[in-house]
Amino acid sequence: MNTYKRKAYAKINLGLDVLGRLPNGYHEVKMVMQTVDIWDELTFQKTNREADDADPKNGAAGVVLTTDAGELPLDQDNLICKAVMLMREEYGFSGGVKIHLQKNIPIAAGMAGGSTDAAATLRGINELFELGASDEKLMELGVRIGADVPYCVMGGTALAEGIGEKLTRLKAAPQCSLLVVKPDVNVSTKDVYRALDAQEEILHPDIDGMVAAIQKDDLDGVISRLGNVLEPVTVQQCPAVSRIRNIMDTQGADGSLMSGSGPTVFGIFADADVAERARKQICEDEACRVKQSFVTCFVD
Ligand code: ATP
Repeated sequence: MNTYKRKAYAKINLGLDVLGRLPNGYHEVKMVMQTVDIWDELTFQKTNREADDADPKNGAAGVVLTTDAGELPLDQDNLICKAVMLMREEYGFSGGVKIHLQKNIPIAAGMAGGSTDAAATLRGINELFELGASDEKLMELGVRIGADVPYCVMGGTALAEGIGEKLTRLKAAPQCSLLVVKPDVNVSTKDVYRALDAQEEILHPDIDGMVAAIQKDDLDGVISRLGNVLEPVTVQQCPAVSRIRNIMDTQGADGSLMSGSGPTVFGIFADADVAERARKQICEDEACRVKQSFVTCFVD
């Protein structure tokens, strides 16, 4: 095989709780993760590594990365390059690789865009060079790149605990129409967690109840338990988050929430046409500062 293409799907958090801080400084989380039908596309092509070594953009990993998303690093700061390097360290395969990233997932948005690209790269390298790594092995390697990478290898509906790497696969969440809106604001995940640490009281969402609702195929039970402890923190820096949620709620969403550390917001709708109308309203509202929006659905 000389070329390989793969979709890298984004996630949202139906529930996100922070239980505390671990001695190593990481936060202990409890999250319900859900893959959504928004994806980047990665194209992998084997190359002659010696020739690539002459390319100034090419790091020690023998990877040349291109993308249509201008603002992303193309060197070893990109999680795609980190994933190639990790696979090379682990399996020592020879030969270079060219990777093209077509970016659709909002960047720095709480949708695990970088992590899912890294997960797709672990898989892509595994396939292209026929390395025979199991999913478990790719997940084990993935956590060295980032806490969300093992989940991105797994995909679907899952409970994530620990720093996000302890995964329990759940039954596929009940289907619905989903409106996803990314405002044109950047939030730093680090700053959001720092501000959370400074808070005296945290209102914890009912993650166990949500897991039970998913196992029972109870969409209303899921919707009534949507909750994200990071949302009140991000809203302070980004009022567009509450503005978007308010419009979603008044325009027919059954429930809405911010994903991850934000600022992306999603709304759950019974009907795609209603979601589409809500999208239009939100896009026309200047205070929502919409950068990207999608009417989409869950992926198992
Ligand atoms: P998470 O939900 O895991 O917090 P996110 O959606 O908030 O992720 P990303 O889109 O992964 O954030 O991007 C965060 C930063 O990571 C970006 O500012 C970007 O410079 C860097 N980055 C490195 N590689 C990638 C990649 N392949 N795609 C997107 N961002 C990347």
